[in-house]
Amino acid sequence: MSSLTDPKEALKAQELCLDTLRMELDEIVHISLNLSKSLGFLKSRLKTPFPRKCTKCARIFETFEDFYKDTSEIARGTVNYPILGNDFYLHRNCPSPCETTLVVVFVDRRDDSLPGLRRRLLFETCMNRLRQVLHIPREQARDILLTELANQLTIRTYLEAEREQQAASDS
Ligand SMILES: [Zn+2]
Repeated sequence: MSSLTDPKEALKAQELCLDTLRMELDEIVHISLNLSKSLGFLKSRLKTPFPRKCTKCARIFETFEDFYKDTSEIARGTVNYPILGNDFYLHRNCPSPCETTLVVVFVDRRDDSLPGLRRRLLFETCMNRLRQVLHIPREQARDILLTELANQLTIRTYLEAEREQQAASDS
């Protein structure tokens, strides 16, 4: 019944399906980006223990708030955003002159806030559509979606950093 034994055909079908889900995927990306900027959301999902010490200059960050306040954002740093059920990371730089990049790990556990619920619902919708069209098991649909979302988030972050840099050089 499934014509997806040919990997090329399978990939084409997958792309087509993700294209029809573009709006839903965009909204998930948007929600994820906003959550990753919310201090409350980050704090509630903290996995890295505090106090935390910089391995290079030995500066101690007593709490996550201190860390967030005292370190600086990396314009084009590698940031992994919350998607669903995965760990995600925040990279920030230790203050000058140290400037070592420090990483904090979070766990993206179940989120019952309104955006969190919306995001889960959208994800479910996308997953069901993928499974219907491609006749694939749940786990596979989930993998495809998580990969696509991670790609979209990386692209979006890159574009935002570009824009910020452009704005800074224009002024
Ligand atoms: Zn340091």
